[in-house]
Amino acid sequence: MDCIFCKIANKEIPSTLLYEDEQIVAFNDNAPQAPTHVLIVPHHHIETINDLGKQDSALIGHMILTATQLAKDLSLAEDGYRLVWNCNRQGGQAVYHIHLHLLGGRNMHWPPG
Ligand code: 5GP
Ligand code: ZN
Repeated sequence: MDCIFCKIANKEIPSTLLYEDEQIVAFNDNAPQAPTHVLIVPHHHIETINDLGKQDSALIGHMILTATQLAKDLSLAEDGYRLVWNCNRQGGQAVYHIHLHLLGGRNMHWPPG
């Protein structure tokens, strides 16, 4: 399968890995939209968050808790940060392998663009 995040998770494509376990990897976005921009990505290929089911509850919880732990480790927790899931075309999804964005280090705007 020609999926860039499968290749990053399998180490076929290099990235700056910040965290890895048997379920997920976390690495720096290569076109950061904030001073800190990390992507939390499951090893398992799932195209969009529309494809998630009850069987994925633990995986999604693990992704969120990993993001909040990284936010603490990267000294973002106190000032604040944003977690983002983009879904499909109008949601701004470009890579069709689910991922959670962790953005921090600047003021975030609301409403989002
Ligand atoms: P999306 O728009 O799908 O929610 O986000 C995809 C993200 O993946 C974008 O922020 C983009 O910069 C990032 N990205 C795309 N290709 C690569 C890559 O090859 N390496 C890394 N580290 N990030 C990537
Ligand atoms: Zn994939």
